[in-house]
Amino acid sequence: MSAMIDPFGRNISYLRVSVTDRCDFRCVYCMAEDMTFLPKAEVLSLEELERLCSAFVRLGVRKLRLTGGEPLVRRNIMSLIESLGRHLQSGDLDELTLTTNGSQLSRYADDLVRCGVRRVNVSLDTLDPHKFEAITRWGKLDKVIEGLTAAKEAGLAIKINTVALKGVNDDELDRLVAWCGEEGYDLTFIEVMPMGELGGDTRLDQYLPLSMVRAKLNERWTLNEIDYKTGGPARYTEVVETGRKLGFITPLTHNFCESCNRVRLTCTGTLYMCLGQEDAADLRAPLRRSDDNAELEAAIHEAIARKPKGHDFVIDRRNRGPAVSRHMSVTGG
Ligand code: SAM
Ligand code: SF4
Repeated sequence: MSAMIDPFGRNISYLRVSVTDRCDFRCVYCMAEDMTFLPKAEVLSLEELERLCSAFVRLGVRKLRLTGGEPLVRRNIMSLIESLGRHLQSGDLDELTLTTNGSQLSRYADDLVRCGVRRVNVSLDTLDPHKFEAITRWGKLDKVIEGLTAAKEAGLAIKINTVALKGVNDDELDRLVAWCGEEGYDLTFIEVMPMGELGGDTRLDQYLPLSMVRAKLNERWTLNEIDYKTGGPARYTEVVETGRKLGFITPLTHNFCESCNRVRLTCTGTLYMCLGQEDAADLRAPLRRSDDNAELEAAIHEAIARKPKGHDFVIDRRNRGPAVSRHMSVTGG
């Protein structure tokens, strides 16, 4: 089958898959406390997810990232990870990885390594147990730290993702850089994005431009620009004092769309060609209509042919609502 090249000549080689919309946390910037989740019939079975991911691998995807919701709370998730791991063994896939809140890592770290996973992104916004509970509402910091330890012992490389939140963790970002250095983790700071209605506070109150974060960090750390590119929105530096990578994801202040190599699949089989746009393609219907993959692969090609040039997120005073109405837990960030 031919590779997936979009109208702007970008080769689509990276698929992010949200395997569930559910989560054991309720992070304030991600979900409302009383989220309504999807009925089971709408959500793809693990077998359907496997078939869909495998179609993308046949069409040229080299990197798969499982996300959510929380991927590790989906029942039997290891069976999906195990079957996708076969594409690593055959050489059709370069990397199988996941983004997780870390709450289940102590249970699954060894199994992940056994299936061929070599690194994970773990979201952690604070090292203060009380703040952690305030941000995640339902999470416990101890459990995540225990998961990180298990992951490290199992041999997984770890990158911490931290959403920079004004008035919440801005006084701790420096400490996080030091802590990641001590633990041997890379770190990425993320600007809060305007996605989904959350009720109550608005994103403008939480928004902290990373340009300010970076200027502050420069007072203590030597940050060397490095040429490490993932085709995504992160720009990486090396923290000379710790030797670890430090990334900055600035979707609101930096345009990274020209090198975009990715598309996102939801747990209902909807393909989003751009995180910041509403246009999407339904792959569940062709998937369920026939066991033959021809129709499915044609639908994927048709969708890639519609991948937009870029996004335009804006958080400003005239525009306080979400730029995109779906929550991050739907498209998986
Ligand atoms: N549950 C997993 C986790 O938390 O890592 C995976 C899904 S979560 C939606 C993926 C990432 O999106 C997390 O790092 C989270 O902090 C981030 N995220 C969620 N909502 C966001 C928002 N509105 N702006 C920026 N990042 C957000
Ligand atoms: Fe759950 Fe991740 Fe969203 Fe937090 S950011 S509520 S852990 S999906």
